[in-house]
Amino acid sequence: MNFDQIREELKQTSNSIDIIEHELNILFTALPDPIFIIDAQGGFLEVLAGNAKELYLDSNYLRGRYIKDLFSSELTERFIAAINQALQTNKLTLIEYEISSEDFLEPQSVSNSWFQGRIVPLNTLNKEEKVVAWVAVNITDKKMLELQLTELSQRDALTGLLNRRYVQEDVSKRIAAYKRYKDHFSLAFLDIDYFKKINDTYGHDVGDYVLKEFSLFVNKEKRESDLLARFGGEEFIIVFPNTPKESAAVFLEKLRRGIENLSLDTAEGKVKFTISMGLTEMMDLDQDFDSIVKRADDALFQAKDRGRNQIVVA
Ligand code: GH3
Ligand code: MG
Ligand code: MG
Repeated sequence: MNFDQIREELKQTSNSIDIIEHELNILFTALPDPIFIIDAQGGFLEVLAGNAKELYLDSNYLRGRYIKDLFSSELTERFIAAINQALQTNKLTLIEYEISSEDFLEPQSVSNSWFQGRIVPLNTLNKEEKVVAWVAVNITDKKMLELQLTELSQRDALTGLLNRRYVQEDVSKRIAAYKRYKDHFSLAFLDIDYFKKINDTYGHDVGDYVLKEFSLFVNKEKRESDLLARFGGEEFIIVFPNTPKESAAVFLEKLRRGIENLSLDTAEGKVKFTISMGLTEMMDLDQDFDSIVKRADDALFQAKDRGRNQIVVA
């Protein structure tokens, strides 16, 4: 090959590279998610694509800046660790993160958003070059839906209270915490007296209304840290964290009187009712949710047996 041929070939190669670069740039104008080219120190070398303006702020100002100078130390630590992981494993690394105004070191007014970072190392050709491409995908809608579904799965549809599944999991965690740190708690089982009669006398809708009003009443009376759940039907559970049963009993007695004095205005006239309760506290012998709930349920049974509208402490 003579000199002219080499020159001609170089020219053609250079043209091809120009064409590829031109086409890539056109491609980037169509891509919705931003792509950041970042080095191992967290320096933004390049900002590409990101054309879905409704999902992403203009990120061009990031070019030439460092992650640590832009984000909180907590986020910076996570971001750098993810970049290092991608570089070390030489594999696609995924990271999920939430960003709110407080995460920026400089004032930024952004609404809370969730992102998935898809990080790929770009050192496949030049092993010395420690650089990654970070594709940021806005997953806020998906995340919100997930949170809503979680919330729905923990709630009872009629009263909006926490449901049986939730309280079961919560108490299991508390039992584990008791075993490790002696975090104490009491638990009460509440049951509306002669509820069937309310349904039979006033109708099922009034029954539903009573359940809702009862839930609101107890919610208002209890401490914020106490957990109120609908166990099923007209049965409820209250968990009292860091509370001995003697203190919980004082609260329940006040609640019992409050309910006794309550007169609900319903479509079918005034409705009055009472509640019976079984109260117990966490003991060393309790291994699971069922054992502590059974003790509270047995105490409730005694309260019913002794004439209702009362508390039995086990
Ligand atoms: P006790 O004093 O022994 O507790 O008697 P009770 O009538 O309250 O207890 P029982 O278990 O015999 O009846 C509970 C009733 O609660 C029966 C059921 O139809 C009714 N119930 C359960 N869930 C709901 C609900 O969501 N809405 C309404 N309106 N009624 C319900
Ligand atoms: Mg009942
Ligand atoms: Mg019952």
